[in-house]
Amino acid sequence: MKKAITNLIEGYQKFCGHYFDRKNSTFANLVLQGQRPKVLVIACSDSRVDPALMMNCQPGDLFVIRNVANLVPPYEDDQAYHGTSAALEFGVCVLKVQHVILLGHTQCGGIQLLLEHLHRKDKSRSFLTKWMELAKVAHDTTIESHADNTLAEKIHLCGQHSLVNSLKNLRTFPWIEESIKQGELSLHAWNFNMSNGTLEEYDEQMNCFKVIGSPQQHKAYA
Ligand SMILES: [Zn+2]
Repeated sequence: MKKAITNLIEGYQKFCGHYFDRKNSTFANLVLQGQRPKVLVIACSDSRVDPALMMNCQPGDLFVIRNVANLVPPYEDDQAYHGTSAALEFGVCVLKVQHVILLGHTQCGGIQLLLEHLHRKDKSRSFLTKWMELAKVAHDTTIESHADNTLAEKIHLCGQHSLVNSLKNLRTFPWIEESIKQGELSLHAWNFNMSNGTLEEYDEQMNCFKVIGSPQQHKAYA
């Protein structure tokens, strides 16, 4: 049990060797200049999908929001505690990021929970039940349009529908819509296929996902 923690502390020592040991180290500069990330990523809390690791980023490159199933709620001016919306506001209005990337993935546990209605059977999961209501439209579309698909396929498709829905919700934030109009912000929806390693991007005009990266392309570049 303790091993999990000692591994992390050992890892931290390696991290210090990479980023703190030299004069003018990455962190010395980041502390001096502050963070200026150009990209905000909204990813799933899933332990297998780490945006910085996946896209080979350095500290300071990405402003990351992670939550169950990488969902974005619509804009709600109700004075409630909105963690994802507050982080979005910080990234867009304070840091003035140029891109917001929604990063979904296949085999998403949150989406599976939704499709299997497990969250409704276990009443103790009150936070998850409420949170996953954000993906209800994606759930209903999947059930109606892909009734004959397997559960694994439905999870994949529901994840894609949910990304499209979160993209719509992003536009309900007035300062996001305004930044897009001013040409200062672009929105993207990406989906990582954990089985075959492909990364897909949603093409809004064609209403479909297109491959933008894969292990095969990596071999071609290598
Ligand atoms: Zn997930």
